Amino acid sequence: MTKFDSDWIPQSAMTIFAHPDDAEFSCSGTVAKWVKAGCEITYILITSGNAGTHDPTYTPESLLEVREREQRQACAVLGVKYIEFLRHDDGRVVADLNLRRELVRLIRQYKPEVVFCGDPTQVFWLNNRLNHPDHRAAALAAIDAVFPASEMELLWPEEGPAWKVHGVYVRTTAEVNTWIDVSDTIDLKIKALREHHSQLDDYKELEETIRQRAADAGQEKGMLFAEAFRVVRLKED
Ligand SMILES: [Zn+2]
Repeated sequence: MTKFDSDWIPQSAMTIFAHPDDAEFSCSGTVAKWVKAGCEITYILITSGNAGTHDPTYTPESLLEVREREQRQACAVLGVKYIEFLRHDDGRVVADLNLRRELVRLIRQYKPEVVFCGDPTQVFWLNNRLNHPDHRAAALAAIDAVFPASEMELLWPEEGPAWKVHGVYVRTTAEVNTWIDVSDTIDLKIKALREHHSQLDDYKELEETIRQRAADAGQEKGMLFAEAFRVVRLKED
């Protein structure tokens, strides 16, 4: 099997996203599939979603606690071993050097072959949605940490030995080039998403939306359900 093909599974991967539930929406079908095959996955949460509610009974502190618990439960469903909460404030993520350095430290520590992240250039979705600025900032921070920072020996040597990420799997992007069959793990994806109770009011609608999107993605490749990525190959061998 060729590296980065649809069926290829790395030994280690890392998701870098802004909020609890972002990775579940983005790539958890693939995450669950890879975990089943023995891949070790680390989740990096830049914020703990401590502003993500319209319910006035929460405080940022109480919401953080709830959302970290929900994220841990979602990770347990998927079989994700390691979770790192960086606890930046929700709604205020900036792709600055401090965040880049934090991510470099974690990339060098966990040495993922693959990093999953969003698309920093995605501002508009059709004519009825705008991308969250935290999503764009998190995606840019992830990409800038992967290359070239993590692999530069003379940059922040105190954060660990240089590590070169093999490939970046970009989700929610217009230009996709790789479809991963998640027909066997779509149910786990939905189950993991349902752990984010504080974000949900209509579980049925969520399930229908997830199935429909994955069915649409798989259709042209003859897959029942798929997640589509733009895979950027940084290390082919
Ligand atoms: Zn989000």
